[in-house]
Amino acid sequence: MFSLWRILVGAVLGATLLACAPIPATPTLATSLSIPTVDLFDVSRKHMVAEQIRERQVIDSEVLRAMETVPRHEFVPREYLAQAYEDHPLPIGNGQTISQPYIVAVMTELAQIKRGDRVLEIGTGSGYQAAILSVITDQVYSVEIIPALAESAAERLKRLGYANVVLKSADGYNGWEEFAPFDAILVTAAADHIPPPLIAQLKDGGRMIIPVGPVGSFQTLWRVNKHGDKIVTENIMGVLFVPLTRGK
Ligand code: SAH
Repeated sequence: MFSLWRILVGAVLGATLLACAPIPATPTLATSLSIPTVDLFDVSRKHMVAEQIRERQVIDSEVLRAMETVPRHEFVPREYLAQAYEDHPLPIGNGQTISQPYIVAVMTELAQIKRGDRVLEIGTGSGYQAAILSVITDQVYSVEIIPALAESAAERLKRLGYANVVLKSADGYNGWEEFAPFDAILVTAAADHIPPPLIAQLKDGGRMIIPVGPVGSFQTLWRVNKHGDKIVTENIMGVLFVPLTRGK
């Protein structure tokens, strides 16, 4: 769809230009004329970052750059394409949602990720949050409990060229022992307690961002900082996430 827009807009501009231009000697329009193209999603994405994210005090330049770069419309189902850059979550199938852009930006900023950090996400969903993380650092691991979502996210991330995200379908309550410890862990589904395996897999000095609270009601977004044996938690704000379900 992303490239379809380019083609459509390019074709319209091309047709206009062609009407008053000499017929080119070479056969293809695209190679013979330098046609300026407008990416309509680019405009929507810039607005999203300016109005929903910068305006609400997200200031980390790497987070803003990632939100400006990742084509969110590629991560939503076709029927929601026109709403891809709006200020709310959207259904992605299997009863799950892609988070509101602002929440993705806040969670990413809170995790204080720098290049070289190893980051774990629990709840891959569409793969959008994983793509944002992969622009900021180079080692992203993501666990999704619903195999169909894990599969489509893997295909999507590969197609879009986010090669540094490693996915698996499993119960993320248990983290991903094989690649632990992590500098940061982002949990994008709500649990009624902080899973102890995730605390164990956090590096000394690591950060975990996790919504905690009752299912089907508002939860609290926590930042958990690990300092040796000490765990410091900060209450960030009220949020509403789908539940962290448990594997059998
Ligand atoms: N981060 C996602 C949106 C998350 S929605 C995105 O950017 O699109 C929450 C996701 O968590 C859902 O896909 C849901 O299936 C998944 N989930 C729920 N419980 C889980 C668990 N125990 N382990 C891994 N994933 C889980």
